Amino acid sequence: MGYSEIYCHLCGVSFNIARRRKLGEPDFAQWDYTGDQSNLGVDEVDLEECAQKGCAMAVMYSGSTENIYKDNAVNDPDYIADHANDSHNGYEYDSDYESTDAMSRSDSGDNADDEDCEMQWYHDWLSTTVDLGSQRGEPIRALGNLTSKQMAELSFPVTSNGIPDGYTDEQLEHIGGPECTEHNAYSGYAISLEEMRGCRTAQFLVHRNQSRGNWRPDGLCEDWELSQPWFLSGLTDGVASRDMGPDEVFPTRGGVSHPWADNINFDPKHMQGDEFAIPFHPWCFDIFCRQSQAKFNRINVAGLIKWRDSEFSYDDFHNFPRCAEVFSAQEQFWSHVPGSEYLAASPLHVPNLPPILQAAVGDANFNTSAGVFDLSLHMSHGTSVHDPLATLPLEIRHLILGFLGSRDIANLRLASRAFQQLPNGLWYRLVREEMPWLWEAWPETECAHTPSPWTEMTANETKTFHQYRETYKSRLTSEGQFSTDAVSDLLPWPRTPQIRLPRNATNWYQLYTDVRHSWGQLKGLQNRKRIWEDVEEIIARIRRYSGDDNLST
Ligand SMILES: [Zn+2]
Ligand SMILES: [Zn+2]
Repeated sequence: MGYSEIYCHLCGVSFNIARRRKLGEPDFAQWDYTGDQSNLGVDEVDLEECAQKGCAMAVMYSGSTENIYKDNAVNDPDYIADHANDSHNGYEYDSDYESTDAMSRSDSGDNADDEDCEMQWYHDWLSTTVDLGSQRGEPIRALGNLTSKQMAELSFPVTSNGIPDGYTDEQLEHIGGPECTEHNAYSGYAISLEEMRGCRTAQFLVHRNQSRGNWRPDGLCEDWELSQPWFLSGLTDGVASRDMGPDEVFPTRGGVSHPWADNINFDPKHMQGDEFAIPFHPWCFDIFCRQSQAKFNRINVAGLIKWRDSEFSYDDFHNFPRCAEVFSAQEQFWSHVPGSEYLAASPLHVPNLPPILQAAVGDANFNTSAGVFDLSLHMSHGTSVHDPLATLPLEIRHLILGFLGSRDIANLRLASRAFQQLPNGLWYRLVREEMPWLWEAWPETECAHTPSPWTEMTANETKTFHQYRETYKSRLTSEGQFSTDAVSDLLPWPRTPQIRLPRNATNWYQLYTDVRHSWGQLKGLQNRKRIWEDVEEIIARIRRYSGDDNLST
């Protein structure tokens, strides 16, 4: 068997997503399907074609992999995290967890000098003990601040005349333009590093049998893991081809460092379902958990397994209904088709979404009981046309609106003055009906869900975080001060504040239209909608296999 990919079992997308950088991005913003930070020499591409596609050639960095880890606290004790431009507010992803910050937390407090001294000690000690090595795959977040690392890169447009005077092939790297297909990778021109964060991260749902009696609650446990025979593994960056054997995950949970996983049971006569872990994106499992909680009132892991085991053949997996972009990308190697970059965008951390949510609650003078439109501009026009709908009482008008979708409502507004002004509550209904995946609009009473910690970091970040934790642990142990709480206090697991829009203080019309208008810039939401629909189908099948088709909610 040659190269053969294992996909996310929930959404069908590969973990071996590749990215090519755009001009101005550092070289660690680029990696191939294996996660190697490789670049493509100009001698490896068709310059004639690239000249048509707006590609460039850049003078290669010398010692490029050293640059990747130059600016960080572990290898460089003088490194100061660049947060000068961070505008902090409750809606933004809180980046303060970065391990580099934990290193510099001494800038407040009365004993600043003592702490400085102590922290410097940690610095020195860490710098000699923690080795990040050259990680493959996604760059860790602490190093992802691209604006501070943009370098004055020497580059030239590709022309069919060959390479510029004074350079040799070996010195020049090909930087693909937005349309270039020389790399099989999503283009940095089409999707930002921030949007893609976590696209290579895989996690596995593992049966306790794989742990050979070693499973124990470990402080990272979800409640359901205590009562189910299945548990979540650590994380890995990318998933190896089937013929390469299982990947190593971090951290090892339940004694399982290399979970055996597949989308297909190729040998059902000899292999039981329990012997295969289920591979997925932590963000897809999060979406499963949200829907499961809303529909079943619990994380229905048993139902998920039942569905998986009932449809575990090659045909079953490949016949599961998915969007066209996924089917056309499922080649032997994931096909990074221009225009389908959203398949790799995080559905949980969507960079352009918080400003939209903020704007919808930003107007303190917004009267939620009044209509959403400012009609003062339109009132001066003639009113001579007879409008029979205007004679209907307000309650009847609202009743009519209750049966209509957004398109019909827009048409009705154009047709009748009586419907020019519309209540805010109508748009709340439309948001909930047409954007069921916009959980920021859900009231807390409907579904209290906290994303699992595994959705907060990429595989590489988790690995680095654990290296820091282990370092703290042994340092505290050697001083006789170790306790789990002390380590957690010094280096807490990051938690993104969850946004919930207050039902009575949100301009739902503005939210609805802003999401619609910005849809092209909301790749993460596009992906959320896609995964949501896949999970809806999974939930429907779980019901079918459990014989409770008729369960209403
Ligand atoms: Zn997925
Ligand atoms: Zn090119």
